[in-house]
Amino acid sequence: MIFSRLQKLRAQFDLLGIDAFLVTFQPHVRYLSGFSGSSGIGLLTKRSTYLITDGRYAQQIRHEVKGWKVFVTDQSLFDVLRRQNLLRHGWRIGFDGNTVTYNRLKELKKSFPRVKFHPKVDCIEQLAAIKDQHEIAKIKKAVAITDRVFLEILDLIKPGVRELDIAAEISYRQRKHGAEADAFETIVASGERSAFPHGRASAKKLSMGEIVTLDFGCVVEGYHSDMTRTLALGRPTAEVKKIYKVVLDAQQRAIDSARSGIKTKELDAVARCYIKEQGYEKYYRHSLGHGIGLQLHEPPRLSVLSKATLESGNVVTIEPGVYIPNIGGVRIEDDVVITNGSCLVLNQSSKEFIIL
Ligand code: ZN
Ligand code: ZN
Repeated sequence: MIFSRLQKLRAQFDLLGIDAFLVTFQPHVRYLSGFSGSSGIGLLTKRSTYLITDGRYAQQIRHEVKGWKVFVTDQSLFDVLRRQNLLRHGWRIGFDGNTVTYNRLKELKKSFPRVKFHPKVDCIEQLAAIKDQHEIAKIKKAVAITDRVFLEILDLIKPGVRELDIAAEISYRQRKHGAEADAFETIVASGERSAFPHGRASAKKLSMGEIVTLDFGCVVEGYHSDMTRTLALGRPTAEVKKIYKVVLDAQQRAIDSARSGIKTKELDAVARCYIKEQGYEKYYRHSLGHGIGLQLHEPPRLSVLSKATLESGNVVTIEPGVYIPNIGGVRIEDDVVITNGSCLVLNQSSKEFIIL
């Protein structure tokens, strides 16, 4: 499994014009080697693989990683590259241009004056965008925990409770049920705050008559889940009910169209055009969704700007929303696996408009 990932990256070396790839971003290190520690860099050459970590991970790295030559150091990880002479004179070294800092690049250039460094973008993300069965199983576990916690916390959502209290309960329960972390800072946005697409939980207390948007997820063995549900405390107005139906129908239309072979911008348009027909286009101002995996946001992006085409094995979110200032917002988000000819929705949580 890991070996085929390495082979796929190596197979691109000629096209990328590089002799080796320096892997410095933790989710990339994990994807290519299996090492889950927070401190590690890898070097993939045409024939060899080297992984460098510090003393804190000496045991863990031997347990998690097979097939890489491992160095454990008490000094700078990058210094090992020099001391072991791992970057040969004249080599062209690829690195991830999105995550290596300007200062780090400057140091590398200084330490290796006879090596050329070439920024490359999304190389590992493109490989990681197609999930295998083991990866999908981990995402399914994370989604199942998120679904379970959603059901449990419905009882806690009542007037007088703070958004932060709900976020704390979500976090606690996700871990109780087997998650290793929250996927991101939980969004609990009530009342007018629900019109902020990314309103993180605040000290505001919920009141009767408000809409509440919950957007949360968890991590299982490095893999993320990400779900949004919107519900009402007390009877919602006719307008809010209408917005809910528009968003739900838009999401369902996108789900019905999601399959391998469709361009992501076409899929984005399915939901966007429907929302436009209903007269709410100007209140829907984000993209339809994003890939999930070892990172919360990864390719393929489901947006107007994306050039990607969905492929079997992609796992993406589908999350249209309509947000009207002073009234409130509705977003509904599921995680789906793209298959040939259709998609499989992983979330089991109800999408009926829940009124508490
Ligand atoms: Zn989300
Ligand atoms: Zn999302």
